[in-house]
Amino acid sequence: MNSLSGFEILDAASSRGQRAVPCIDVAGGNPDIVDAVCRRLTASDVCAFLSSTPASIDSYLGMEHFRDSIELARRRHGVCVAPHLDHADDPAAIDRALAVGVRSVMFDGSALPLADNIAVTRSVVERAHAVGASVEAELGAIGGKEDPGEASIAENVRPDEATRFLREARPDLFAPAIGTVHGRRGGEASIDWTLVDRLVADRGDTPLVLHGTTGLPAEDVHRLIDLGFRKVNYATMIRDAYVAGLARALEGRTDLPRPQEVLASARTAVAEAVDRILQLVTVR
Ligand SMILES: [Zn+2]
Repeated sequence: MNSLSGFEILDAASSRGQRAVPCIDVAGGNPDIVDAVCRRLTASDVCAFLSSTPASIDSYLGMEHFRDSIELARRRHGVCVAPHLDHADDPAAIDRALAVGVRSVMFDGSALPLADNIAVTRSVVERAHAVGASVEAELGAIGGKEDPGEASIAENVRPDEATRFLREARPDLFAPAIGTVHGRRGGEASIDWTLVDRLVADRGDTPLVLHGTTGLPAEDVHRLIDLGFRKVNYATMIRDAYVAGLARALEGRTDLPRPQEVLASARTAVAEAVDRILQLVTVR
């Protein structure tokens, strides 16, 4: 069972006149998060990537569940979504995703020296294209952290290196580090707008991807989309909404509620967060 590729999601979004495509973290394919997100997407007729990192997938129910959870929701709601493997720094995780029919992946070689990042990204692109999948790749280091563990030291991309990376590695989507930060520190972002202008001018046809969007001011999100960022990632905002929704259902209770009650509260909180994301990314 193959999922939609990034190419298909971007094309479908373009044909709907969608300004940019949200990429929403679904915590390894948590069915309550996936369902809440898909209901809001259907109501707004918006295409989206539903993403997760290898660490989230492997510490939850595995790669097949991640794919199945999203594919079931796609059929149930008739919604334009695809599973997207986010920040895979090990090509083996990408091969596992491709093997179960995931057709949108990100190779994150940002910790590698430039030449190695180019070589590994290029080999991932070739394997992915052989099965019709699209590849996003990162250059520079986006600060903060997506998963438990060490936070990356932020290092913005260098324009000359970006040009060489795009020419030699040829990813389908490009995630350059421009000064945004992963996690709950979006307010600390310091975007290098001169760098953004250079990247926009030099990228050719390659769509740009914005990471570390949680907490970024709306005016920055809008300006980056206006400049050509096509895929806009939200992870922390959705994860936090889900857990806050669970906590809200338990607050002040002396008895234990039914699971349905707690999960409904979490789904409502996720739906509210999705509405805020759609407002930021697809409405101007
Ligand atoms: Zn990211």
